[in-house]
Amino acid sequence: MSRQDEITSNLNSIKERIASACRRCGRDPAGVKLIAVTKTYPASDIEIAVGAGCENIGENRVQELEEKSPLLVCKPVVHLIGHLQTNKVAKAAALADCIHSVDSLRVLEKLETVCGSIDKKINILIQVNTSGEESKSGCSEIECAEICAVAAKSSFCKLRGLMTIGPLDGTDEQNRASFRMLKRIAENNRQFFCDGTFELSMGMSGDFEAAIEEGATMVRVGSGIFGKRNYA
Ligand SMILES: *Cc1c(COP(=O)(O)O)cnc(C)c1O
Repeated sequence: MSRQDEITSNLNSIKERIASACRRCGRDPAGVKLIAVTKTYPASDIEIAVGAGCENIGENRVQELEEKSPLLVCKPVVHLIGHLQTNKVAKAAALADCIHSVDSLRVLEKLETVCGSIDKKINILIQVNTSGEESKSGCSEIECAEICAVAAKSSFCKLRGLMTIGPLDGTDEQNRASFRMLKRIAENNRQFFCDGTFELSMGMSGDFEAAIEEGATMVRVGSGIFGKRNYA
């Protein structure tokens, strides 16, 4: 099978699974955005995914995004989903349309300054650590409320919602507990989101259906579309 056929067929099956999950919980599939996570996969795979109708792509690392961006002919909507260090904020601001991993006031303030200097509005999500695992990035519930309050007053950073990563090797119930917690935190901070509505970026290849049933509006799927990842 050609790479194109492989990716297209995987994409179609993920889309069908999204539609089924929506049907199970009475949601409109139009309310769930599929983000094809392209980290470690070549720019040519991004072309194929975008060509097959998946215009939202997600990258983890600013440097990798910087390397692949000039190779692209297509114009995807770029989501930065990996941990963001303050020294990478300027590059991230220039390359991404939406940043899912704002998890400190420091990063938010830097992003606001940088976006102001290039006169660019950027969509942001606050990443919350809902699993309690210390290795995970993401802020606490209390920090999230503080960051949301400041983001709401920003001119260039548009606060759109929250993002989380479920527990590593979590059971279905543990994953759902994480997703429910994210939704509860978003509801508690509803006043701070643009347009009075919020995105919930949650769910990956292994748990996106549960995430949809718990209210995800963005799912981040990599290996389910592109196959096993080679980190070498
Ligand atoms: C890699 C990654 C994904 C996608 O993971 P898969 O298991 O390959 O679907 C989603 N979100 C984040 C933050 C990631 O780093």
